[in-house]
Amino acid sequence: MLGISPDVCASDRKGSNVKEFRTESKKLLDLMANSIYTNRDIFLRELVSNSSDAIDKLSFMSLTDSNASLADEDLEIRLAFDKDARTVTVSDNGIGMTAEEMEENLGTIAHSGSEEFKAANGEAQGSEVDIIGQFGVGFYSSFMVAKNVRVVSRAFGSDETYVWESDGAEGYTIEPAAEQRATHGTDVILTLRDEPEAKQSSDEDDEPERGYGSYLSEWGLRDLVTRYSNYVRHPIRMIVTKSRQLPKPEDAPEDYTPEYEDYEELETLNSMTPIWRKRKQDVEQDDYDEFYKSTFHDWDAPARTIPFHVEGTLDYYALLFVPGRAPFDLYSKDYEKGLALYSSNVMIMEKCADLLPDYYNFVRGVVDSPDVSLNISRETLQQNRQLRVMARSVERQITRNLQDMRDNDREEYEKFFENFGRGLKFGIYNSYGAKSDPLADLLLFWSAREEKLITFAEYVAAMPEGQDVIYYAAGESRERMAKMPIVRTVLDKGFDVLLCTQDVDEFCFQAMRSYHAAAVAGDSETPGKDARDLDLKNVTSGDLDLASDEEKEEAEKATSEHEDLFGALAEKLGEKVVKVAAAASATDAPARITTEGPVSLEMERVLAQGPEANGAPKSRRILELNVSHPVFEKLVAAQEAGDDEKLGLYADLLYDQALLVEGLPVEDPVAFAQAVCSLM
Ligand code: ADP
Repeated sequence: MLGISPDVCASDRKGSNVKEFRTESKKLLDLMANSIYTNRDIFLRELVSNSSDAIDKLSFMSLTDSNASLADEDLEIRLAFDKDARTVTVSDNGIGMTAEEMEENLGTIAHSGSEEFKAANGEAQGSEVDIIGQFGVGFYSSFMVAKNVRVVSRAFGSDETYVWESDGAEGYTIEPAAEQRATHGTDVILTLRDEPEAKQSSDEDDEPERGYGSYLSEWGLRDLVTRYSNYVRHPIRMIVTKSRQLPKPEDAPEDYTPEYEDYEELETLNSMTPIWRKRKQDVEQDDYDEFYKSTFHDWDAPARTIPFHVEGTLDYYALLFVPGRAPFDLYSKDYEKGLALYSSNVMIMEKCADLLPDYYNFVRGVVDSPDVSLNISRETLQQNRQLRVMARSVERQITRNLQDMRDNDREEYEKFFENFGRGLKFGIYNSYGAKSDPLADLLLFWSAREEKLITFAEYVAAMPEGQDVIYYAAGESRERMAKMPIVRTVLDKGFDVLLCTQDVDEFCFQAMRSYHAAAVAGDSETPGKDARDLDLKNVTSGDLDLASDEEKEEAEKATSEHEDLFGALAEKLGEKVVKVAAAASATDAPARITTEGPVSLEMERVLAQGPEANGAPKSRRILELNVSHPVFEKLVAAQEAGDDEKLGLYADLLYDQALLVEGLPVEDPVAFAQAVCSLM
């Protein structure tokens, strides 16, 4: 323990010697006092965390110093407030400070930070929030809410109490206390600033400036403790007022109404043991659920709870949750992703976005590591190696748990997928396919054949010999797609078709380009399969290559045989199609529309609704005719009779009804209706 040098005491005792803060401290104090920093609530967290550290130091000393035997349960942090005097007091019976330590610790910014602070303050003029965020404001944050701060402290092993006092502007004083503290420890007494005058504003939206009143209330302090310091290891206690019913008097009348009285009780406000530090096997799911619901304000229990602990060069605990349903604003731009970040049980950040990839933005939870600096700031996060390491394993854990849910609890997984699947697809799309592994295997699609949701892997496993692409159809309704002639044709060939109904589906597929199917080990009955990449093919793309050689030959023959007819029809349809041709593979419909090139009919529709609808690319459409359909004979007859008008009518009708079958609107419904009537 350091003694107090006599001349410091002498000058302090006179009380006239106001010491000036060191330059950089003064600047920081200025920032605090005039702070535009909105989150001043954190002052309590900072003071509580200092108290907790002071208790830790004392506990540590009692381990190493046999003279300092302490009962652990007596160590505590106390909160108190006085409405009339406008004070909030944070007390602890930790290690305390000597006058010299007060001078050293409270007269300047923490030594480690001061040099950097000078540098940063030089270049970051005007950006106050950054500076405050960068150095962890610590004790100085008191000045965000207080006009005067008194620190009354008695160091462990000393019987003298000293008072450090400052109004934050110019300097501070250190004097012996008039009254000795009963035990070692520290009281930090904040006299809150005056309430801001109610703003006279005609603007309804103008937020009224918030006062300090809530800090002078039981609920206000309790709220701050549960929000920011709930998992501090030491008890944070406060005398609270409660109400109880008085016993019913013997001679109470029949219509007696119960009477109540107020009484005071010392209550521990924080839960102390962080639930994420408990071993999984020691926690009931109910406790996890309650923690989740109260912390993340959800009515429903989480779909999945993921606790884990990593030891090694970087030590940390994490507790993650997959919510049971999507928050209402998940897909809005106001939604903020992130995990709460704790260091040694003190919350540093409520939503640390860097810990979660965008496609897992729905995950809520906590990461706690003693290795992460309390002073971490938004700017340094991106470059923080520890944080990146944690983010990577957080991602791996989430993936592993989703895979497990997919394989072992399909019902729950389908519910999950309905809530959050769209985000996973966007993950692939936004990463230009780079995140296909592992995201592609987490996707589910409706199988036209199985009539249920399946994964790509399940699709591939059920593929017959000879199939080497994955077929899908994209549209608004599953039912309608299932009835499309081309879907039925593909199914008839023995190939399944994935029916995709989300706007992002095809864009996700284009980003993926292909699905990487893993190798499958064989057994005595079935041969194994090598890993391979399978293209994803829209069934309405023209080049399906489903027809047999024979069918293809026939179609080619028919196309050249009726070259004039097809040419005439294409001319009638004008810009609507790039060509008209004979359909190679059999269908029972007279005509269908296929496309060539990268833009499918469904993509064209989605793009047309998008923000750049005007310049959006269009699909290249082909009208394919079924030459063995009776309708085709009518076309031939009309052409042979030279009935140009009828031919035009037929062309429009076939084109429009093919569009309808695809689930697409006809361009001119009135003309379509008239054409049908005129034929009847
Ligand atoms: P930091 O906690 O980041 O070091 P602070 O400005 O919050 O920075 O505090 C400065 C120093 O003052 C602490 O490191 C500690 O030595 C001392 N201190 C603050 N509060 C207390 C307390 N309640 N008990 C004992 N020492 C304290």
